[in-house]
Amino acid sequence: MKDTAKVFKVETFGAVDGPSIRLVIFLQGCSFRCKYCHNPESWEMNNNQAQEMSIQDILTLYEQNSAFYKKGGITFSGGEPMLQADFIKLFAQQAKAKNIHIAIDTSACNFLQNKQAYEQLIDLVDLWIVDIKSLDQKEHEFITGSKDLAGAEFVKYLEQKGKPFWIRQVIIKTINANNENIEKLASFVKPLKHCQKAELLSYHNLAYEKYNKLAIPYPFKDIQMLTTQEFDALKNHFHNLLLK
Ligand code: SF4
Repeated sequence: MKDTAKVFKVETFGAVDGPSIRLVIFLQGCSFRCKYCHNPESWEMNNNQAQEMSIQDILTLYEQNSAFYKKGGITFSGGEPMLQADFIKLFAQQAKAKNIHIAIDTSACNFLQNKQAYEQLIDLVDLWIVDIKSLDQKEHEFITGSKDLAGAEFVKYLEQKGKPFWIRQVIIKTINANNENIEKLASFVKPLKHCQKAELLSYHNLAYEKYNKLAIPYPFKDIQMLTTQEFDALKNHFHNLLLK
């Protein structure tokens, strides 16, 4: 088992990737190619810009700011952190002994091919944050390049295991920003007893310049962002359906 990870970014005061303030470790590598991805530099596992970090490197960073993380913890994000699940397992075994809350922010892109990677972490991870790209196979393939409805399948697995999770979906104008999608997602989420939070995120194009710098064509260059009013209307519809 590998006791170092390939990391492309570290955020010491993350406020959105799990409860409270967290150390967020963004791991290198992803097999999806989401058209709105903010981190195209994370895609290839072999990227010499990535840094190798050991378990101790991460624990030292955590301990330097541990006063801020009392109600938070550590989140592994990406890229797709589950491509380095063996490292996370070793890390989580040590972190558990120190009572550190561990979250994983995942699209579960390899869940159907490598269920074992997820099974080995199921009792070590305190919270899973699952990105459901789409519940429609064609739309999922259009957004990510993959037909596997992996996020939804992983959520069903977590529900069956009784493990806590959050769900997220990015809402994109002209693609899934419509009532039909919102209603489909709400019907999926509503019966889930172990879903602690379901969030819609509004697509934004802040990564546009990054793509230009990396000379990667930006696939959503013609997609407008939702206005605040448009996004709020969809969010309200979603929350009202969940409350019904
Ligand atoms: S799953 Fe995440 S990291 Fe991978 S391509 Fe999609 S948005 Fe980017």
